[in-house]
Amino acid sequence: MWTNWAGTVRASPNRTIWPASEAEVQEAIRTSTGPIKAVGSGHSFTSIAATDGLMVHLDRMSGLVGVDHEACTATVLAGTTIARTNVLLGGHGLALSNLGDIDRQAVAGAIATGTHGTGSRFTGLAGQVVALDLVTAEGEVRRLAGGDTFDAARVGLGALGIVTAVTFRCEPAFLLRAVDRPAGLEETLDGYEDWIGSHDHAEFFWFPHTRRVLTKTSDRVHGPARSLSRGRAWFEDDFMANTVLEQANRLGTRYPRAIPVINAMTVRGLTSREYSDTSHRVFCSPRRVVFPETEFAIPRPALRHVLIEAQRWLATHDEHITAPVEVRAAAGDDAWLSMAYQRDIVYVAFHQFVRRDERRWFAAVEAVMREVGGRPHWGKLHNLAADDLAPRYPRFADFLAVREALDPERRFTNTYLRRVLGS
Ligand SMILES: Cc1cc2nc3c(=O)[nH]c(=O)nc-3n(C[C@H](O)[C@H](O)[C@H](O)COP(=O)(O)OP(=O)(O)OC[C@H]3O[C@@H](n4cnc5c(N)ncnc54)[C@H](O)[C@@H]3O)c2cc1C
Repeated sequence: MWTNWAGTVRASPNRTIWPASEAEVQEAIRTSTGPIKAVGSGHSFTSIAATDGLMVHLDRMSGLVGVDHEACTATVLAGTTIARTNVLLGGHGLALSNLGDIDRQAVAGAIATGTHGTGSRFTGLAGQVVALDLVTAEGEVRRLAGGDTFDAARVGLGALGIVTAVTFRCEPAFLLRAVDRPAGLEETLDGYEDWIGSHDHAEFFWFPHTRRVLTKTSDRVHGPARSLSRGRAWFEDDFMANTVLEQANRLGTRYPRAIPVINAMTVRGLTSREYSDTSHRVFCSPRRVVFPETEFAIPRPALRHVLIEAQRWLATHDEHITAPVEVRAAAGDDAWLSMAYQRDIVYVAFHQFVRRDERRWFAAVEAVMREVGGRPHWGKLHNLAADDLAPRYPRFADFLAVREALDPERRFTNTYLRRVLGS
């Protein structure tokens, strides 16, 4: 039995393998019949990685293949986690330009769903990919570094084959100066475009039932690093963000009507802080509170409307939410199924504590984000199907054509892909 990180998806593959080389992946594809699914670290909230056929874990295909210092690129095996990639690149004086909140995902799993961080001038991970090695349904290896198949395969949903290696465009290792500051929701929305444009990376967390946010910015700086002491970093990023949040969530689960008070107390306790550290230590932090999540990429001008509608819905329904809403920006990119395809967007993510039912809250905010043309994160909960998604992606039909050419028998499909791709 396989389960995802949140414990919300279970699957019973009829066979599970851990190939150690590209040749073993080819062999597995050529000698098996029936559905095949590569799986990363199981951190998707959707059932995108589930299968009842052959499950292929790439954990043993982890490590650095090579670095091209002149081109500032690095190639890692597909099962390498982001955390290990950061360490391996750091050893060569390199770093990825922009990362999400955590570093547990495998690189191939992360890019397959369009995993992103924040930064109005920066793309998500798939936008940082310059080449991929893909083993097709025929067991052939394709080295993709441009062209239609490459543009389809970067955010490939695991639907086109098994990726065995990924080449990233990097930048010289850098420090980020991080500033966290509590602020009002209105003032943050009023100056949003200017604010995100004046920082390399900027995001905010809105606390439902309040009009307060925690803003977080980070910008490239020269050293020396002025990092938080280990004790303070653990206290704020691990203990407060996990243990205390878990307790607040448990309390809110027992006494849901007390949640607005709990949130009001939480925002009163928010404080400012400033530090600098190696980029990936600023981008990523541990997440141990288990939650389901939905997230959509929406046009930036629609942000205020979406948050106002979410507030209005909470004010008129007997539903109380502890988990902060996370708002991040990204530059448009050119991967066909990227949520930011040819659009500068803002990601709005809604969470719920795992012990509480998220469905009413997620359905309400999904309706608003659909209406403004939002594109759901492929790895986070949503109810859209192929007919809803096709008009949101100008190259959707082209993606299906590439898939038809590479996998006409749909060996890499599963229930989720049948829903979102139509077969
Ligand atoms: C705590 C937490 C925090 C998160 N934070 C963020 C965030 O900040 N930003 C964000 O955008 N997302 C975030 N996510 C979502 C997460 O990044 C994505 O769901 C990501 O796809 C998970 O990567 P994974 O390695 O676990 O892939 P899995 O969930 O295991 O698989 C995802 C897809 O990738 C495919 N795949 C995996 N390996 C291969 C391969 N070798 N070849 C072809 N296809 C493959 C699978 O078949 C599947 O379709 C978060 C999730 C969690 C649980």
